[in-house]
Amino acid sequence: MSIKAKIDKLRETVPAEVKIVAVSKFHPADMIREAYDDGQRIFGESRVQELVEKYEMLPADIEWHFIGNLQRNKVKNLAPFVSLIHSLDSDKLMREIEKHASANNRKIPCLLQIHIADEDTKSGFSPDECRQFLAGGTWRQHTHVQLAGVMGMATFTDDEGKIRREFRLLKSLFDEFKERYFLNDPAFREISMGMSDDFRIAVEEGSTMIRVGTLIFGTR
Ligand SMILES: *Cc1c(COP(=O)(O)O)cnc(C)c1O
Repeated sequence: MSIKAKIDKLRETVPAEVKIVAVSKFHPADMIREAYDDGQRIFGESRVQELVEKYEMLPADIEWHFIGNLQRNKVKNLAPFVSLIHSLDSDKLMREIEKHASANNRKIPCLLQIHIADEDTKSGFSPDECRQFLAGGTWRQHTHVQLAGVMGMATFTDDEGKIRREFRLLKSLFDEFKERYFLNDPAFREISMGMSDDFRIAVEEGSTMIRVGTLIFGTR
């Protein structure tokens, strides 16, 4: 099946209001172009260098999302153009994004990445760390960082019940934060969850944005 056919099929599967981030990491620019020619405009990348190179080669109306672990010393390379950073998970990273967003006269939308899986990983707040981050309130002074929702990854497992419980936890954290801090802020609205293997469950559990790579572009 062509990239175009795979995207069309995916679009038929998910509700129209759920945004599809086409995860193009490790795939060449001509494959992105094929998806672009089918009307796809949101692409996700997980390495800064690769993202910058593709940004320079491809049409200017693409919305580039950064979905990987973000090193602070690389924020400056993304700041001029990135549309959404899915991986905000510390005060230090927020300060760095603030600095470079401000220097570029931009307000950069960011999602709070929360660690909902069982797997060991360094990235993402724990639910309690995220609560403390928001309660601390320093984010209010970072006016060039737009908190736009939450992001999480479920455990890599065949156990659908487990995946569903993890997505449910992320949705409930979103609801908690929305209620407590963002009721009057329409920009805080995204729940980025669901990948090639689990996006159906994620959509059932309230995802507003799925990040799909393999299903569109094939294996990496
Ligand atoms: C690679 C990646 C994806 C896409 O995964 P697929 O299984 O290829 O759909 C989604 N989210 C993140 C954070 C990723 O790193």
